[in-house]
Amino acid sequence: MGFSFEVDRTAEGGGRRGRLRLPHGVVETPVFMPVGTAASVKAVPQSLLEEVGAGGKGTQIILANTYHLYLRPGHELVRRMGGVHRFMSWERPMLTDSGGFQVFSLSKLRKISPEGVEFRSHLDGSKHFFSPEHSMDVQIALGADIAMVFDECVETPATWERTRESMGLTHAWAQRSKDHFELHKDRVPWFSERQEQTQSLFGIVQGGMYADLRKESAERLVEMDLPGYAIGGLAVGEPREVTREMIARTLEHLPKDKPRYVMGVGYPDEIEEYARMGVDMMDCVLPTRAGRHGLLFTSQGRLNIKKKEYAEDQGPIDATCGCIVCRRYTRAYLRHLFASGEPLSAVLNSVHNIAFYLDTMERVRGDLERGAS
Ligand SMILES: [Zn+2]
Repeated sequence: MGFSFEVDRTAEGGGRRGRLRLPHGVVETPVFMPVGTAASVKAVPQSLLEEVGAGGKGTQIILANTYHLYLRPGHELVRRMGGVHRFMSWERPMLTDSGGFQVFSLSKLRKISPEGVEFRSHLDGSKHFFSPEHSMDVQIALGADIAMVFDECVETPATWERTRESMGLTHAWAQRSKDHFELHKDRVPWFSERQEQTQSLFGIVQGGMYADLRKESAERLVEMDLPGYAIGGLAVGEPREVTREMIARTLEHLPKDKPRYVMGVGYPDEIEEYARMGVDMMDCVLPTRAGRHGLLFTSQGRLNIKKKEYAEDQGPIDATCGCIVCRRYTRAYLRHLFASGEPLSAVLNSVHNIAFYLDTMERVRGDLERGAS
């Protein structure tokens, strides 16, 4: 209970116009999800997330990172605060990742066994152990609308043999995640106040850069009959054609009546392309991370605000953008804020970039609605 997905229309290219119904609201798809790493989309207040982009409708759903919240402030503290929605005052839908990706990319001295992963915190070096069961307990305590199975992320590049071995572990962990989740999902902080709705658990297809392994992984996960499926382990340094190829080859093996989510992508033209191929959900730190570095996305391409040529430029970042930053501030002012290291620089740049991403997806949804691909 607490989850449904419907597709209104599928365009010729495979893109789908649909809708996810979650305990904290409805999400129009395809959707881009800004990343709120530590229960904060860096430099952007929740009130702005709610109103900027997509014609004033703002952000529909955000992602939070299980690994970060587990280490600080701790999932039990978040549970005592009523769950991550209430803790951060965000009443719209949320998704948490499983912690797997950060354990493998950020932590030190990992020891992997079939049981789980032992690792040291990147914050203070303290020792921790994550298993599929523990990842589920943490995600249930956080209480996002969608949780993800715990997976192993293989290093890149990796051989076929190594990738297949890792994938086997990921599948075993997916089953253990599901079994544990089903037993304990009613412990989510908002269970009783939301008519006994629960979180939904999505699977993650792995298989590296090998189409045959992607197929095998998708088929194995589909057998587990989860409500949605993510494609993981992409955008980790491989050429863009390979990312696109792996997405296309995986989509073929995923059910059409369930949402498909590509994790950790990408640039605005990439999210547009994947949405038109039939991907329903995407997330990426890029709009906020690039914003903090002065890189702005516009309808005319990328703009680096630190360039001297903008020092006396009275125009907005993007004349076609209706966001609060473009309506009010000049490139000259934004360049000055960046050059002076003013905290407002990160706020305004991130707000514009998020608006640009959300506007991009709003435009794609409009096209798909009309049946254009
Ligand atoms: Zn703007």
